[in-house]
Amino acid sequence: MGDLIVRGGTVLVGGAWTCVDVTAHDGMLVGPAGVGPDGVEVDGAGLLVAAGYLDLQCNGGLGIDLAGAPERLWELGVLLPQFGVTAWLPTIVTTPDGIVDRAIEALAAGPPNGWRGAIPLGLHLEGPFLSPAKRGAHPEALLRPPTLEAIEGWSREAGVALVTLAPDQPGALEVLDALVQRGVVVSLGHTPATAEQATAAVDAGARWVTHLFNAMAPLHHREPGLAGVALADERLHVGVIPDGIHVHPRVVAMTQRALGDRLTIVTDAVGALGMPHGRMTLGRTVVTIDDGGVRLADGNLAGSNLAMDQGVRNLVAFSGCPTEAALHAASTAPAAVLGDTVRGTLAPGARADLVVLTRELELVATIVGGEILYDAR
Ligand code: ZN
Repeated sequence: MGDLIVRGGTVLVGGAWTCVDVTAHDGMLVGPAGVGPDGVEVDGAGLLVAAGYLDLQCNGGLGIDLAGAPERLWELGVLLPQFGVTAWLPTIVTTPDGIVDRAIEALAAGPPNGWRGAIPLGLHLEGPFLSPAKRGAHPEALLRPPTLEAIEGWSREAGVALVTLAPDQPGALEVLDALVQRGVVVSLGHTPATAEQATAAVDAGARWVTHLFNAMAPLHHREPGLAGVALADERLHVGVIPDGIHVHPRVVAMTQRALGDRLTIVTDAVGALGMPHGRMTLGRTVVTIDDGGVRLADGNLAGSNLAMDQGVRNLVAFSGCPTEAALHAASTAPAAVLGDTVRGTLAPGARADLVVLTRELELVATIVGGEILYDAR
């Protein structure tokens, strides 16, 4: 048949392809020693099998806008395997009161019966504790100072996996500390923070940086700011949007070399992902989609229309990094940010969340929990 088949607990590649040297039981890889942590090359057919992609920042796609309709996160999860995504953080930007609570409820309610898709691992709340000076596309009127009162009910257990906040805001460190105590990963972003302020936040437990270089002070050799701390501080993993628009390809290359294993690719995709060029409405905002990305009327970027599998190819094209390094940045590193030990790896005991790729990293198939959810053929 030529189809990729998971049968009898074994991942087989049919037709002219060879068997992948990995076995699976109930969606768990238990296969043999010798499988590398980042991917295993399929001899003969020239295909690669790697851990599925994990997008830590995805606001929407294919016309779905989570900021307006957080309940649609399950619907979006069904669509993401076509981009190689097997797990993700539904991301809610700064929104009117009630949207975050609705997102938490939608996640807690669980998937509809018979649902299969990219698994949401918790919410990424990007805002509202951002700096007005670096708000990007976030509505200024909805930004809030960080307070303990405002994060009532936010915890890993309640489904909040990651929060992006601006460490320069008064009260930020107290809120950061409280979130870390509740098992939430705290990321730094949308801030003009100095290196000193950023380092204080890392000392307090922040472990990720949201879209490096975008919505933060530029790197300056005498005031490195958050960007400099992100590049230099080994305690941080760092998100980068490799669409060639948010960050120049040359800077992506420099960043890949500086960060190594600490680099995480994100899409920051909005409802424009997978939609034709032109104008569309996201929530109450009209955006224009063209070769220059997704922009508001004022020219500000409003997220991206980058697909995760394209981001992986871009990273290789921009930086010349090895395939393994790009796959690491799309799966292993983001799993590490979440402390997730069963994803981002093909080691024994890992979930059978897989992508099958050509050598050019074109997506052939996506497998979630041992089930094929996308097949490009
Ligand atoms: Zn942002």
